[in-house]
Amino acid sequence: MTSRILPALPSLEDIGARQDRTAATVVASLRFYEELNDFIARDRRWREFDFECAADATIKHVIEALGVPHTEVELILVNGVSVDFAQGLRHGDRISVYPKFEAFDISPLLRVRPGPLRITRFVADVHLGGLARLLRMAGFDTWYDNSVDAGIERIAGRDGRIVLTRDRDLLKRRAITHGCYVHALKPDGQLSEVLARLDLFGSMQPLSRCLKCNAPLMAVEKALILDALPPRVREHQQHFSTCAVCRRVFWEGSHWRHMLDRLAKAGEAAADQQASTQGAQSSVFR
Ligand SMILES: [Zn+2]
Repeated sequence: MTSRILPALPSLEDIGARQDRTAATVVASLRFYEELNDFIARDRRWREFDFECAADATIKHVIEALGVPHTEVELILVNGVSVDFAQGLRHGDRISVYPKFEAFDISPLLRVRPGPLRITRFVADVHLGGLARLLRMAGFDTWYDNSVDAGIERIAGRDGRIVLTRDRDLLKRRAITHGCYVHALKPDGQLSEVLARLDLFGSMQPLSRCLKCNAPLMAVEKALILDALPPRVREHQQHFSTCAVCRRVFWEGSHWRHMLDRLAKAGEAAADQQASTQGAQSSVFR
């Protein structure tokens, strides 16, 4: 005679607990589009999947619980209708989450934010000093201080700056409304990525800002700075600018031409990235 162990019958207590849990959670199906897939677990990428969450969770909670910083998200559709981050979830909701389409017209649909920042200003985290320098070189107002990381949230809010970082947790902070997760590891690639993502390569104003202080440069009469110039520069250069903060003087020497080349290359790479992204995005709303 064989014996087998029967599975234990659930106690009334267990049944009660299960019913409570069912009442307190909902299951929604989600799909993330384009580069948002980089943030989520591999087995959830590029496909629809079910996710169980607390019944009182908002869309923002769910998106961030899955690993996607809310600042990366531009548009959320629930059952085909555009919603904002505060939207609650109902059982059976189908949720589509789209990244920023700076070069893609979704204006007929409500976005998750009232509108883009009108002036493009950045704050770069402590690890992005190279990118900050290149952005300043391209003329963009970029706050960066390699000794301070904790103040980024405050500075972003105070000045209306777009946070640039490779730290997802930083972008999840509620006070940060505009942020860019930077995927590239090297500064030149990072610059192309930011230019493409925010459609900025037409807005570059090379060498209009001090690389050290971030202050705008002002034209200065050669006669006023003659004594500060090396002899060869004094002889060959006619146009000068200066920084009101650090008082450095800049001119169009070989270093200047090298920087222009670097910016031109980043601009070309950005245009290529944007062209390939637009091709990929044209299928998103089908
Ligand atoms: Zn300066």
